[in-house]
Amino acid sequence: MIKHLIVLSAPSGAGKTTVARHLLEKFPQLAFSVSATTRAKRPNEVHGRDYFFLTSEEFRNRLANGDLIEYEEIFGNYYGTLKSVVQNALSRGQFLIFDVDVKGALSLQKSFPEETLLLFVAPPDMQTLEQRLRSRKTETDEQIHLRLTRAEMEMGHMESFDKQLINTDLAETLSKAEEIAAPYITGSPLQSKMF
Ligand code: 5GP
Repeated sequence: MIKHLIVLSAPSGAGKTTVARHLLEKFPQLAFSVSATTRAKRPNEVHGRDYFFLTSEEFRNRLANGDLIEYEEIFGNYYGTLKSVVQNALSRGQFLIFDVDVKGALSLQKSFPEETLLLFVAPPDMQTLEQRLRSRKTETDEQIHLRLTRAEMEMGHMESFDKQLINTDLAETLSKAEEIAAPYITGSPLQSKMF
């Protein structure tokens, strides 16, 4: 039961990026699905690796051309999955990992029902999520409030996902994610190491 599109979603601060990085490291067959966005590039980000950073006009043009499979407005910016990225991967039999919001994940599932595995990473509870967001000190109070409100909406869609991971202990979450993804990527369950 091979599935080429592994779709990760989680409220901001739940640990999704770490899970995505871990899976990319463990499964060389996987590539990151680079989305288009109108959000400003962060200092450590690279155009074409983390996102295709577009102006609002460029994004609108791509949309009008039918180049996007799905898109959402999130925290005032647009984010979308490029058709070309998915088509290229599928035509070469390559596996992709997506880091998209819940609505994007559900749209991808609708477009590729046979090829998607939807994985939701949830925080143990809302208080923990708030603490994590505060401790990373990258958001203002207002942004934290917005992210928490959005997180509640996202948690409401959790049951629509194929698999749910509650990120209480990061190391455990990473190995569970690997165990869940392995059969879909390799066609066989993860072999536990003998030593
Ligand atoms: P960030 O700005 O922190 O990189 O991402 C903000 C949110 O946008 C995250 O929840 C991320 O998963 C989501 N996102 C990134 N790319 C896409 C995309 O192509 N489509 C959708 N629907 N959401 C995306």
